[in-house]
Amino acid sequence: MTDNLTKEQRRKNMKAIKSVSKLESIVSRELWNKGYRFRRNIKDLKGKPDISIKKYKTVIFIDSCFFHQCPLHGNLPSTNREFWERKLNSNVQRDREVNDYYNEKGWNLMRIWEHEVKEDLNKVIYNISEFIEKSK
Ligand SMILES: [Zn+2]
Repeated sequence: MTDNLTKEQRRKNMKAIKSVSKLESIVSRELWNKGYRFRRNIKDLKGKPDISIKKYKTVIFIDSCFFHQCPLHGNLPSTNREFWERKLNSNVQRDREVNDYYNEKGWNLMRIWEHEVKEDLNKVIYNISEFIEKSK
């Protein structure tokens, strides 16, 4: 599938990807400092969770507002609309499949939006800590 992205859109994509992976690193560091031990981006877990603790059957995803279409910030770029519609819809669909998969297996799954981390890092760290404690 060729994407035919404009230079501008490609630049925006790279920015979106970098921005969320930077946030993942910040969240990981904070959790690590709080004493939590976990793995990052494990390939043998479905959906390659950003943070996972197999012992507690816990997976945590930090989702880009754009690529995972957050209800507040998800939008379709005006160029290559058809391409983006397909791609973003398939991302959202895959997220649902991943959620179902873990729910069926009785795992604890948490999703956090990029904007939540940007707005209030402390609150996010607090919520994740609570979530992990409850998963134990
Ligand atoms: Zn958002």
